[in-house]
Order: sequence, then structure tokens, then C-alpha cells
Amino acid sequence: MTVEPPERPARAPKTAPDPRAAPPLPPARIEEMYGRLAAALPEPKGELEYVNPFTLLVAVVLSAQATDKGVNKATRGLFAVADSPESMLALGEDGLKDHIKTIGLFNSKAKNVIALSRALIEQHGGQVPPDRDALEALPGVGRKTANVVLNIAFGMPTIAVDTHIFRVANRTGLAPGKTVRAVEDALEARTPEAFRLHAHHWLILHGRYVCKARRPDCGACPIADLCAWPDKPEPVGA
Ligand code: SF4
Repeated sequence: MTVEPPERPARAPKTAPDPRAAPPLPPARIEEMYGRLAAALPEPKGELEYVNPFTLLVAVVLSAQATDKGVNKATRGLFAVADSPESMLALGEDGLKDHIKTIGLFNSKAKNVIALSRALIEQHGGQVPPDRDALEALPGVGRKTANVVLNIAFGMPTIAVDTHIFRVANRTGLAPGKTVRAVEDALEARTPEAFRLHAHHWLILHGRYVCKARRPDCGACPIADLCAWPDKPEPVGA
């Protein structure tokens, strides 16, 4: 029997940038940076599994302080029996907990998912509303979750700043900021329109797999010559 090593859960972003964060990049470099990320992955996708806007919302709520991989393992069985607010209520809080007990904070997440399912039925006809204020009024739904749902389910050009995007934005000089909201606002202001829809996915995947927290893979980075991080190693032969 093989035992998989535990995945490191996503943590909340730091609320202050690296003291050696890069200075802001000029617009031409930002355009080139996104252009290269887009060329490498023209149709980027998130890694959470879902079958409709409701299951996307539930998956994002469950993903706080947890890995996408861990959430997907739990939701495959869950969404087979509960893929709507009505079927989630029918499953009930205890039934839901049985499916998600491998996910951190599952007790409070189960309460929130049941409460948000009830609110969707009572206030939105059982549908996920394509509206930030309405989403943020749901139990367990904050700005980041609303941004993910608006972007993926409804095709709006929102950028949800998680720990990976916060790091990449500060490290590269793309959108430096001391808080999550400051980075989100800077990304909105500095990301060219043509790249806004997929910016969230390009940056999160770049942070997760290349510009990693402890050991960024600068040698294999497609935007290394554009990145302004002062600690990146000099290219070989420079
Ligand atoms: S060069 Fe290094 S620090 Fe800069 S974006 Fe690439 S991986 Fe991150």
C-alpha cells in the first residue's frame, strides 16, 4: 500500500509583501508577461472540480485552508448525491459532514454550506446569483470566493487574490501591495483588458508550479527576464 504524503494546504496570504519585493513593472513589461503566460496556456482552467455554479460555489467554500486535491477527493462523492441547494438540504448537515470530514474545518464549512443552500432557495430561487453583493451576503462566502465564482461560473473579469497570486504580484513587481485588497486593486488597474478574464488562473498556476513560495523555479520561468524580483538568480552566462 502506498501512502501519499500530505499536501500542504493553501494558507491565507501574508498581509505584507516581502521586504525585498520588486518595484512596480512598467506597462509594456506587464503586457509581455501576460502574453507569455497566455501563449503557454491559452485556455487556463482551475483545478477544483464542479458540475454547475452551485457545486463550484460549494467547492470554493470548502477549499479555504485546504488543497484543491483534497477538496476534489471529497466532492466527487458529495456532488454525485447533492449537486443543487435542494439536494444539499435533503442530504442534511450530518450527511454532508460524512462526505467532507477529510477537509479541514469541516464542521463550520458544513454549517455554512447548509445555510447557504437554504439562503439560495429562499432568496434566489435556488440559483447562484451573478452578483457580488448577493454572493458575499451568503454564509461562508467572502470576497475571494465571490471573485472565483463570478470569474469561472459567469465569465466576469474578476481576480481573486490567494496566497499564490499575492506572492507573484509582489515578487515580480506586477502589482505590489501590502494587503490582499491592495493587490487585487493593483491587478485590476494594471492588467490589460485582453488578459483580465484569465489573469486569475495564469497567476495562480504560475505561483503554484513555478514561482513557488520557498524555492521559485527561476531557471525554468518563462517570464524571468521580465520579473523584477531582486533575489532572483542571474541567468547562466550573464
Ligand atoms: S523569475 Fe523567479 S521570482 Fe520571478 S516570476 Fe519567475 S520564478 Fe518567480
